Amino acid sequence: MSKKTFPIHEVFERLDPVIEKLEAPVVDFIATQSGDPYKILIATILSARTTDQVTTKAVQKLFPQAPDMESLSKLTVEKIEELIYPVGFYRQKAKQLHKLPQVLQEKFNGVIPDEIDDLIQLPGVGRKTANLVRATAFHKPAICVDVHVHRICNRWGYIKTKNPLETEMKLRKILPEEYWLKINSYLVTLGQTICRPQRPHCDRCPINDLCRKILTK
Ligand code: SF4
Repeated sequence: MSKKTFPIHEVFERLDPVIEKLEAPVVDFIATQSGDPYKILIATILSARTTDQVTTKAVQKLFPQAPDMESLSKLTVEKIEELIYPVGFYRQKAKQLHKLPQVLQEKFNGVIPDEIDDLIQLPGVGRKTANLVRATAFHKPAICVDVHVHRICNRWGYIKTKNPLETEMKLRKILPEEYWLKINSYLVTLGQTICRPQRPHCDRCPINDLCRKILTK
């Protein structure tokens, strides 16, 4: 199978019914439940290097006390730490969330932007988070590449890249735009359940016969 003929449409067609039955990533869940860019932004920041289970518990504690940017601005760093513990890097994230309302006000008049170059100016927001927020909160074309997307696209043999940024740039060139929004949630879900980093379950993967199984890290 050459790279040019990788059957990307068939891959997504086969993944559609499978992904529907598996548990969606927490950020997608929040997006479908609330559609609120504030909640999506906060959940995305908290979810970095954190399991969905821990992120879910953290937002369940944080959102009742800080349902919007204004209420978040009234919480101390210590209080935010207490509410989001034990997400990964919770001290650092608490500081970033504490700064967020002020930076947002100063730079964007309090309105969460939808452009990547604007979003990455917010505390705690890197390219991955910015792409995910743009796609899930604003339904704008964006490809959010995290470790799962990077690993699985390379395993498929669809691309050959060294890091997530290279993967994002390559996918922008070759991935049909109709899949930009879904690739992250599909491959996060697939990556957490079937195409796991170590010992992927190829035997029960719906695209077993289409994948080149290039099992690098
Ligand atoms: S066939 Fe194996 S390596 Fe390929 S996507 Fe499925 S689980 Fe991953």
